[in-house]
Amino acid sequence: MACIYGYFIRRDRHMPYSTTSADVVIVGTGAAGLFCALHLPENLSIYMITKDTLENSASYLAQGGIAALKDSEDYEDYFEDTLRAGHYENSRKAVDTMIRQSPVIIRELLDYHVNFDKKGDDLDLTKEGGHSASRILHHEDITGQEITSKLLQNVREKKNIDLHEHTTMVDLICEKNVCKGIITQDADGAFHAVFGKAVVLATGGIGGLFKHSTAFRHITGDSLAIALKHNVLLKDINYIQIHPTSLYSEKPGRSFLISEAVRGEGGVLRNKDMERFTDELQPRDVVSAAIKKQMEKDGRGFVWLDVTHLDPELVKSHFPNILEHCKEEGYDILKEPFPVTPAQHYFMGGIEVDLKGRTSMDNLYAIGETSCTGVHGKNRLGSNSLLESLVFAKRSAQNIEETIPYEPTEVEDVDFTQYEGRDFAKEYREIVLEEIKRRDKDFYEQWCT
Ligand SMILES: Cc1cc2nc3c(=O)[nH]c(=O)nc-3n(C[C@H](O)[C@H](O)[C@H](O)COP(=O)(O)OP(=O)(O)OC[C@H]3O[C@@H](n4cnc5c(N)ncnc54)[C@H](O)[C@@H]3O)c2cc1C
Repeated sequence: MACIYGYFIRRDRHMPYSTTSADVVIVGTGAAGLFCALHLPENLSIYMITKDTLENSASYLAQGGIAALKDSEDYEDYFEDTLRAGHYENSRKAVDTMIRQSPVIIRELLDYHVNFDKKGDDLDLTKEGGHSASRILHHEDITGQEITSKLLQNVREKKNIDLHEHTTMVDLICEKNVCKGIITQDADGAFHAVFGKAVVLATGGIGGLFKHSTAFRHITGDSLAIALKHNVLLKDINYIQIHPTSLYSEKPGRSFLISEAVRGEGGVLRNKDMERFTDELQPRDVVSAAIKKQMEKDGRGFVWLDVTHLDPELVKSHFPNILEHCKEEGYDILKEPFPVTPAQHYFMGGIEVDLKGRTSMDNLYAIGETSCTGVHGKNRLGSNSLLESLVFAKRSAQNIEETIPYEPTEVEDVDFTQYEGRDFAKEYREIVLEEIKRRDKDFYEQWCT
């Protein structure tokens, strides 16, 4: 066994296995994982992995913005807006925690040099569907990229944080409901054991399990399958948000989101005979269901969205990205209707956690979209998810700091042969979809088959 850069590495000459240890292991480099890492003390060694490149996370894709309490008078309204969107199934304690922490989180983001748009000297606050006040901070329409890239820049400067790209968590190392680390597989297929005194799952949502999703294809809810395997409790796993309109494309990869605002401004949905078939301004789930039904009737995978009757100047000024992206896909939306289809967009359920990000397994934390704090209830209020990720990532880091033992991380022998020859992507996909089916057969049949 050798000690390299503070980590213990053991390599068998014949087998591509190794064992490493750190104080804290963080799985995922989206906003949640990065913010957690930044809030851990610098005397702790942190081992962070991501399945893909550091930038390819849903956090980078967030467009609209991040919500925050405007002032103390806004508390009741913000609380009520979040509950109303969540069909009053939210955890009131979690919502209260998120809202009360939001001003501090925004101040911290500003300290990390996140550049929010301003109106004069003040931050430019906007409003979105479901919010009764303008309380959303944004950076153009690429807020997620601005926040996440600044967090990543800060993480890269920390000497105690070791980043590993193209490294996939395939299992937890645990015994008697105590988490001791993770098993990873690298791009060459080699397995590694990474032991840690605390393990934080920040693996995002489940979009990659769906034919159409606005998230990256590699984000497939692996943590959920692994949690199920080890009897870690999950919550509301069938609470999955389907966005009514994404640009239909035969190309592989994630779906391009066509914002609700397009219908809000008067965009009309049409069937194969170019007839309008539903009220476009109904709630998301109702419009999604109407589109799905129409697609089945029409025998095709899309319906048309038509904005040709709108003022072209309005379309150009309100939806420059959509206009541009559709043009790249071959549609001039000022002149012709373009094809849209519902797509999975957000996951409200997840690994059940308390207000400190603790799961039902000791030393195992979950944060961000992977976790279920109960903030969103049955349905997420727009721009609350980045905020939730950051608030609870910080609280997890604080709890880890308070409780992590001084003793070195324990390293044990691992039987790596159990991982050889397995198709984890297929195995874990089946486990998660089966659980969704078990919890909500109607949802499964409508959206997962
Ligand atoms: C198109 C789009 C627009 C959005 N707009 C907004 C918005 O305006 N406002 C808002 O608040 N929210 C928005 N959201 C939601 C928000 O972006 C996400 O909910 C939030 O960023 C989740 O952050 P996260 O860190 O939990 O996960 P992610 O940012 O998705 O990060 C997950 C990380 O886990 C890694 N990972 C996954 N599985 C494994 C594994 N097995 N092993 C190793 N690594 C793994 C991934 O590679 C990635 O690094 C939007 C989402 C999308 C898709």
